[in-house]
Amino acid sequence: MRLSRYFLPVLKEDPKEAQIVSHRLMLRAGMIKQQAAGIYSWLPLGFKVLKRIEQIVHEEQQRAGHIPMLMPTLQPADLWRESGRYDDYGEEMLRVTDRHKRDLLYGPTNEEMITDIFRAHVNSYKDLPLTLYHIQWKFRDEIRPRFGVMRGREFLMKDGYNFDLTKEDALHAYNRHLVSYLRSYERMGLQAIPMRADGGPIGGDYTHEFLVLAETGESEVFYDSQITDLTFGDRQIDYDDVAECQAVLEEFTSRYARTDETHDQEVFDQIPEERRRTARGIEVGQIFYFGTKYSEAMGATVRTSDSTQVPVHMGSHGIGVSRLLGAIIEANHDDKGIIWPEGVTPFHVGIVNLKQGDNSTDSACQAIYAELQHRGLDPLYDDRDERAGAKFASMDLIGLPWRITVGPRGLTNNKVELTCRRTGQSEELSPADAIHRVA
Ligand code: ATP
Ligand code: MG
Ligand code: MG
Ligand code: MG
Repeated sequence: MRLSRYFLPVLKEDPKEAQIVSHRLMLRAGMIKQQAAGIYSWLPLGFKVLKRIEQIVHEEQQRAGHIPMLMPTLQPADLWRESGRYDDYGEEMLRVTDRHKRDLLYGPTNEEMITDIFRAHVNSYKDLPLTLYHIQWKFRDEIRPRFGVMRGREFLMKDGYNFDLTKEDALHAYNRHLVSYLRSYERMGLQAIPMRADGGPIGGDYTHEFLVLAETGESEVFYDSQITDLTFGDRQIDYDDVAECQAVLEEFTSRYARTDETHDQEVFDQIPEERRRTARGIEVGQIFYFGTKYSEAMGATVRTSDSTQVPVHMGSHGIGVSRLLGAIIEANHDDKGIIWPEGVTPFHVGIVNLKQGDNSTDSACQAIYAELQHRGLDPLYDDRDERAGAKFASMDLIGLPWRITVGPRGLTNNKVELTCRRTGQSEELSPADAIHRVA
């Protein structure tokens, strides 16, 4: 993309409404525009990152054997009357009435609808196990939308639902989700720690929230510092292997890590003092096994091998796709701007032309731009007629991992400058070597 033809409305001043760094940087980098409290337009740069995050989530879910689909944003109230949640959900639910006076709602989550789909089409245990998911906009009328996309009212969520014959099978689905989530967050350059969460009225040990440590997080968390040494890395996993998935769960939940809702000071005090940590975290996902709660209420049963009808065991599993942009920026920035992890960066590399209009500089930039594209990369070429200082400031703000700076002086020695955004280190290289380094 040529910056002169792109739409990147960067702001010079800090927007007053932003209280935390990720919100400030997303507004300044021209990624989002607020349209109403907690409701945002995704401008091209923000949209690109959102799509990259979505893509990672899709790839990792499908790797785990989970099946993509799409349910609507509007749902009939009657489904929620069947489960009893139409009244219980409270003020976070946005209720709508159509011209025929039928009650609808903008979905805050999809347990009821997916259960309705399941009961309409699945009758036999032979069709299990089944895990369906979608990535769709949700609406929750949060009492205090804030921090930009971190706590929006309209937000993008991946929500997946498993259907299994037995509790044991459903717990394997739970473990698959845990593994696939660990992989997803790591690909986004994040460490998200599974922490034991509160099962609410249903209770049980089978819910974990994934938290990214950050000072601006809304949850208070307590953990054993050893948990932060664990990484999933590039190990191979067979998602059908029950024992292998269970081992990952055990490994990643073997150290104390809880939010304030489940914190137990007595247990915490048994950890050696130098390993005890209290911090704040951002919830970027949650997995939940809830058994037959919805299948019983809504009649989602299957026929077993001995021809009895049993309600299926279910779980639901969510990732805060749009919130992740905020979380990634909270964990990856400096005083100049965002520092995108390679896995989610909107463009792979920026090219800065120091002397727009100078024939040799223009053609060197053009050649680098074309070669990077040829290699399947997505470069952003700053071909605007602007001062070098302004071009550097924009590049630093939008945080691409690499910058190639091209000017007439360097070119006389066949050199350009390659700068790493994260370390700030620069090197003089030939254009071919610079391309080779980033490709
Ligand atoms: P929170 O505790 O932050 O209100 P939640 O526990 O109500 O979140 P879940 O129902 O677990 O949310 O939804 C799955 C994921 O969706 C959450 O882990 C979070 O990452 C994301 N999410 C929830 N509410 C919002 C919101 N208002 N804005 C952006 N993302 C959200
Ligand atoms: Mg909530
Ligand atoms: Mg929560
Ligand atoms: Mg949650």
